Amino acid sequence: MTRKYNFCAGPAALPESVLEIARDDMLDWHGRGLSIMEMSHRSAEVVGVAEQAEQALRELLGVSDDYAVLFLQGGASTQFAAVPLNLLGANQAADYINTGQWSKKAIAEARRFGTVNVAATSEDTNFSTIPARDGWQLSDNAAYLHYTPNETIGGVEFFWTPEADAPLVTDMSSTILSRPINVDDYGVIYAGAQKNIGPAGLTIVIVRRELLGRAHDLCPAMLNWQVAAENDSMYNTPPTFALYLAQLVFAWLQGLGGLAAMADINRRKAQKLYAAIDGSDFYANPVDPACRSLMNVPFTLADDALDKVFLAESEEAGLLNLKGHRSVGGMRASIYNAVGEDAVDALIAFMQDFEQRNG
Ligand SMILES: *Cc1c(COP(=O)(O)O)cnc(C)c1O
Repeated sequence: MTRKYNFCAGPAALPESVLEIARDDMLDWHGRGLSIMEMSHRSAEVVGVAEQAEQALRELLGVSDDYAVLFLQGGASTQFAAVPLNLLGANQAADYINTGQWSKKAIAEARRFGTVNVAATSEDTNFSTIPARDGWQLSDNAAYLHYTPNETIGGVEFFWTPEADAPLVTDMSSTILSRPINVDDYGVIYAGAQKNIGPAGLTIVIVRRELLGRAHDLCPAMLNWQVAAENDSMYNTPPTFALYLAQLVFAWLQGLGGLAAMADINRRKAQKLYAAIDGSDFYANPVDPACRSLMNVPFTLADDALDKVFLAESEEAGLLNLKGHRSVGGMRASIYNAVGEDAVDALIAFMQDFEQRNG
């Protein structure tokens, strides 16, 4: 068996050592004679896994007891609706910063539930930068300010945390756990698991407890964070196997030395790849250097007629899923936590060889 290098934007690569543990546990979890996915979510075993996952996530991110950690389903896209349903009162507005395709989806969904103010947008730059903070037009009566710290499709990342009077709500799907953050800066952090946490099917919400209890009357119980918090995320059956894998990923991150150590590796990976792109006339990245994503690196070839050849040959070389998002074109290398430095080195070597042959 040869494992290939996987640059998929999501569901994304998982650490090989985690997959090996999952393989070994598959038929018989810790000598119980059955798989973890065949056990009741009320069993001591599954409840224990959930508790370990929560504890590890709290340690990794530095989440205090002022926050509830929720393990939910439905992906980040479901939280696009859950956020206004839990926080947006009748006489309030919700401020949103529009920095790309995921911001736009969050905005469109929130508009169904109340007044949305797009306080700043970088659409006029084709989402290649982040609008400067001093130009943001925030509402006086904002229930919250929502932003997307890493735009997975455009490859644009915030390296600063917006300040505002209203609670900060953030879709961290493609940057969570890639580097340390200060959780206390946020009212709500949410993320789908399939980029940096585990397999698809699990969604994480970290919410300041004082923001619970504000949900709209019509908010479904399944979207109500307070209901989830009061039931330890077991109001209904949680995605037990995804939770188990996430717990293994958290343990893997702790073994690496936590998020500061992970961040060093991620910065090195991204710097190398951007340097290779910038050092060549053949490849280009359109993003403002001040906000280039550490996780998702889009790049174009000098001649897009070569895109198909590049993709076919890279796949042949064991470098998978480099095709850019349909809305941007070109290529995109997603270099999440589980994509090793060796994968980035192999990609750069391939790119240089391809340029020599075709440039
Ligand atoms: C992948 C992604 C989403 C969509 O997540 P789902 O879990 O598929 O709903 C939303 N926001 C960002 C920033 C993403 O990267």
